[in-house]
Amino acid sequence: MENRLRSLYLLQLVDSNLDELQEMKGDLPQIVADLTETVKQKLANKKELEETFKKSMVTRDKTDVEILALKEKIEKYKTQQFQVKTNKQYDILAREIDLSQEKITKLQKDMELLEGKAMLAKEDVEKLIPELETLQTELANRKKELAAVNKEHEEEELKLQHQREKITNKISKADYQMYSRIRGAEEGRAIVAVQRNSCGGCFNRVTPQRVLELRKNAALIACERCGRILVSDEIVESAKKSL
Ligand SMILES: [Zn+2]
Repeated sequence: MENRLRSLYLLQLVDSNLDELQEMKGDLPQIVADLTETVKQKLANKKELEETFKKSMVTRDKTDVEILALKEKIEKYKTQQFQVKTNKQYDILAREIDLSQEKITKLQKDMELLEGKAMLAKEDVEKLIPELETLQTELANRKKELAAVNKEHEEEELKLQHQREKITNKISKADYQMYSRIRGAEEGRAIVAVQRNSCGGCFNRVTPQRVLELRKNAALIACERCGRILVSDEIVESAKKSL
């Protein structure tokens, strides 16, 4: 039981040190992650707009060709009108001319709409370019900062992670799960020392009888208020020595 308590307290010490390292990095990892996501989205947005521009222009050009073809047709009908012999034939051609003219009017409207769509997309892309540049510069700077912080603590972090692995290998699965559960619920601290007859986590008083019991290092004793596991000074001292 004593070893069990010591291993749990050791794990707590190592995890607290790792937590401290994470705290030193502050918001940087989150900032880098958020910026990366924003840049990704803006790049996708830009690509979409560029495609809209391209597609609209291609369709616009096709429409233009159609209009030219219709105008040629009209010219042909007009020439034919001079050559026909009956009024009926003349009227048929006149109707064809009208129909073609109507089609041209409609296509010209389509062209205007397509041009408008293309121009809007182009404007949006132009707005996005400086925005993206700013974001990408900031992302690069933040990444550099994070890399520097990571490098500064790399050795210590690796050492702690190595220690952690060794400790967790000695802890039963059930104890590890209990530890993780309390740690998750109680601000990262699952195993605490008793200080001046109080819980080192929530400072609730621990009765003299329980303190006596604790000193035997013979059972898992939890704080009655916060549920953290309480350990004796002896465990604390021997754990610190073995780190
Ligand atoms: Zn407590």
